[in-house]
Amino acid sequence: MSQKLAGVKGMADVLPASAGGDAETWQFMERQAREVMRRFGYGEVRTPVVEDTALFVRGVGEETDIVGKEMYTFTDKGDRSLSLRPEGTAPAVRAYVEHAVLNKEPVTRWFYWAPMFRYERMKTGRYRQFWQVGAEALGVQEPAQDAEVIHLALEILRALGLSGVRLELSSIGDEQCRPAYQEKLVAYFQGYREKLCAECQVRLERNPLRILDCKNEGCREIARGAPVLLDHLCAPCREHFDEVKRLLEVVKAPYTINPRIVRGLDYYTRTAFELIADDPALGTASAVGGGGRYDKLVKSLGGPDVPAVGFAMGLERLKLLLHGAGRTFTSAPDLFVASVDGNSFDAAFAIAGKLRQDGLWVELDTRGGSLKSQMKRADKSGARFALVMGEREVAEQAGELKPLRGGEPRRVSFDELPAILRAP
Ligand SMILES: [Zn+2]
Ligand SMILES: [Zn+2]
Repeated sequence: MSQKLAGVKGMADVLPASAGGDAETWQFMERQAREVMRRFGYGEVRTPVVEDTALFVRGVGEETDIVGKEMYTFTDKGDRSLSLRPEGTAPAVRAYVEHAVLNKEPVTRWFYWAPMFRYERMKTGRYRQFWQVGAEALGVQEPAQDAEVIHLALEILRALGLSGVRLELSSIGDEQCRPAYQEKLVAYFQGYREKLCAECQVRLERNPLRILDCKNEGCREIARGAPVLLDHLCAPCREHFDEVKRLLEVVKAPYTINPRIVRGLDYYTRTAFELIADDPALGTASAVGGGGRYDKLVKSLGGPDVPAVGFAMGLERLKLLLHGAGRTFTSAPDLFVASVDGNSFDAAFAIAGKLRQDGLWVELDTRGGSLKSQMKRADKSGARFALVMGEREVAEQAGELKPLRGGEPRRVSFDELPAILRAP
């Protein structure tokens, strides 16, 4: 026998519940998310799993952990440097620019439901192939677009029944108000220079905002006392932020202000938000998603000067929350058709085929076998009813419908079967 091969570490298989998996939970999440996207009028963008590495270097940032440490990058046979996408925004923007979508519509609203890849350390809810649902709205600078995108994210959570996730909101300003703030920040961190980690000492020269992102406990402690951008917004940024908050109140979306939300990259502007769940199911990781405005990204990727706002949520984490709340998603056949012997198999196969064409979920044992073993499988399938086909049933076009979850059997003609099976 050949040696067994295992899946790649950090990349999970999804199997149906009958095989011990949770594919039904995934299907539920995808169904709900797509339905909410439809109601908000967001169209689906599907981009390839691999992109030119340069897209992420420019679109996510060379100095980020994502690009610097976590990307799956390889050289293809044509000597191109390609990377598995670590996030969904840069590819969506690349497609938006490449297809000159701005010439076709002034406002573009897209969503994606797609796997992402990052070579991360393994912890609860973290995978190296992980799934995200996200949305991007391009072409609108008005705060109403921020509010719509945030409302969309919240409605997906509501459709999933995850009422424990809360919205934290902030503004990180723009190129008008950030330089003055950055000076105050540098002055503050200079006072703690020796206590910062080696990386943050470099950041202090190159990108001091990113110190606020550092995971090092010592740096975090120092960062807690740092001035916050929310206190230093220019008047237009302040107005924008006030309007986003007002419109969230219009749609009765609760939020809390968290001035500590940072987005270390230059292309992020103004609105920034995070979706937080304090749930033991998530371990120490409490953010299930986040987003904000990125008015400078489209231009930095070679496109027109188009403002944009979006979000992404991690689906493995949402799934952990659903399971943590005891939600299970299983489904079962409407009917199991058995046959008394080999001679009746054709009749069973025919009626199963007919009912399947009528939209019903019908199972039968394609191995044939004894009636006893077929009925064992019928029980295990969780089907609502079983029907046994024999010569008599074929002749009379009627048979005994046996409820498998309690209740009395009854004689039914095959004509009435679809209606009976469809009734709750
Ligand atoms: Zn640090
Ligand atoms: Zn500003």
